[in-house]
Amino acid sequence: MTAARALRRPHGAADDFAGNSSAPSRERLSALQQVAARYAVAITPAVTDMIDPSDPHDPIAKQFLPDVRELDQQPEENADPIGDDAHSPVEGVVHRYPDRVLLKLVNACAVYCRFCFRREMVGPGRGGLSRAALDAALDYIAGTPEIWEVILTGGDPLVLSPRRLKAVMARLAAIDHVKVIRVHTRLPAVAPEKITPAVVKALRTGKATFVVLHANHARELTDYARAACARLIDAGIPMLSQSVLLRGVNDDADTLGQLMRALVECRIKPYYLHHADLAPGTAHFRTTIAEGQALMRTLHGRTSGLCQPSYVLDIPGGHGKSPIGPIYLSADCSEVEDFHGRRHAYPPR
Ligand code: SF4
Repeated sequence: MTAARALRRPHGAADDFAGNSSAPSRERLSALQQVAARYAVAITPAVTDMIDPSDPHDPIAKQFLPDVRELDQQPEENADPIGDDAHSPVEGVVHRYPDRVLLKLVNACAVYCRFCFRREMVGPGRGGLSRAALDAALDYIAGTPEIWEVILTGGDPLVLSPRRLKAVMARLAAIDHVKVIRVHTRLPAVAPEKITPAVVKALRTGKATFVVLHANHARELTDYARAACARLIDAGIPMLSQSVLLRGVNDDADTLGQLMRALVECRIKPYYLHHADLAPGTAHFRTTIAEGQALMRTLHGRTSGLCQPSYVLDIPGGHGKSPIGPIYLSADCSEVEDFHGRRHAYPPR
């Protein structure tokens, strides 16, 4: 979808994209056009269908439709908030941790999330790795024996044609020391029709391959999305999820619990809940870490262990991801808190 079409509101939905139910004023429309000129805008028919046009606070619309608040950049926000560039030995590769690398094949996505931490790098027409750059990236991986896992990310790697995806997967699978391939994608939810038998076949190489679905609200797991995930899982490709904690989208215990349960019901293990990164123009989405910890505590108290993701923060500057609690053990390891919030001595006295 073009920016202009997005600004006309799909199916009349989501009003002014920032909670105002009247039609956008000329000034507001101009501001929204500035947002769309700066950051990519696209949504898919599947996402359009998820949006409730009668709800000015629709949690799906908030994720994908531009908001004038995106023009407000805070001093602490950064075009490269998790420090990819500081750890890029060759174009397209981020080698931050000893045993794994990111391989950024493509800078395009099917949708452009308003809170994206790579929003300065992704967009239509941004292209991806050239043939020569891909060769150099794969040479780097092949020549670095400590790389055990390769994470395909982007952009969204599943926007590649099945033929190109299959070629990359086969070349990675042929590297003996690469034992695990992980694919991070939003496609099974936002464009489930793209998870075709050819895509599923391209992902099956004989190496352990995991698909990590990015989803932030239970309503993204439509019947079509569930069927797309089932196509992957039934083909022997296990799925994990990553979600971003987003104010106004999933920052309450009921919504977060429903999301985690829906994922598990789809046979997808919740893996990460990301604290929202310091990406430019995204302050309106960020909660505090204390709010995130309180939500995780409630999740722990109410839902199965299968539904518990790890709440993580990507430390700005490229220092990697760390779990950020909450912590149930006292600092001196003499007490532990149960799921009701009661503290118990350990060992019992
Ligand atoms: S799909 Fe991923 S990379 Fe693309 S805009 Fe959304 S968060 Fe960013």
